[in-house]
Amino acid sequence: MCSLCDHTPADHRQPASRRHFFKFAAMAAAGLTLSPNGSAAKAPPKPGNVVSADGALDRLMKGNERYVQGTALRHDFKHEREALSKGQNPFAGILSCADSRIAPEYAFDTGRGDLFVCRVAGNFLNDDVVASFEYAIAVLNTPLLMVLGHQACGAVDATIKSIKDGTALPGHLPSLVAAIGPAIKPALAQSGDMLDNAIRQNIAFNVERLKAATPIIDKAVADGKVRIIGALYHLDTGRVDLLAQNAPATIGLRQG
Ligand SMILES: [Zn+2]
Repeated sequence: MCSLCDHTPADHRQPASRRHFFKFAAMAAAGLTLSPNGSAAKAPPKPGNVVSADGALDRLMKGNERYVQGTALRHDFKHEREALSKGQNPFAGILSCADSRIAPEYAFDTGRGDLFVCRVAGNFLNDDVVASFEYAIAVLNTPLLMVLGHQACGAVDATIKSIKDGTALPGHLPSLVAAIGPAIKPALAQSGDMLDNAIRQNIAFNVERLKAATPIIDKAVADGKVRIIGALYHLDTGRVDLLAQNAPATIGLRQG
């Protein structure tokens, strides 16, 4: 049973390429680690990216400090291009808003092959994001996942207004409201800055959903192989603050 809906995997009627991916991911999770072309596993292209979850987090935060201070490294993209043509081993996965002002690779002063980034307006989980992170964990051995929200998120703000005013947004925008709404409803009844509260609630909610995503991610977390955290990007300073992992944000979760 899928962890994010009530369907069995067969119900999703996935295209062949996706079915093959899940089969491959399951093999990798079982220890049958093969490269995507089926050959035996080889040395990672970026040996410096083979770190623990705590080491990955330390690297992210030090990179963000350089970004904030304006002392970002000069990345030699040409030098690493050949190694990265053979494979990838990113040290962190980031779920970020699509907002053009965020740019995780810049915010953490990282190069190519360092971050496995999924982006959608409102930084929420769906089946495709979960599948992408399953690939990062089971195949690429990524030790850290971060849900990265940000100040003044337009997707969260639009969701608040739609719920409060009872108005339907045009086009496909209601799909954002449907995805973000369950996460932020508790914030609508809180005192203080409603948008800021909702943004933080949305981050915490998706951290908990990611931790509970069966069967690959929740097992990796339980086995201590992967750490999942939430963080907030400040538009005015560029600083990323880690959020306390104490939000009871399991509302609406469906266990597989
Ligand atoms: Zn946003």
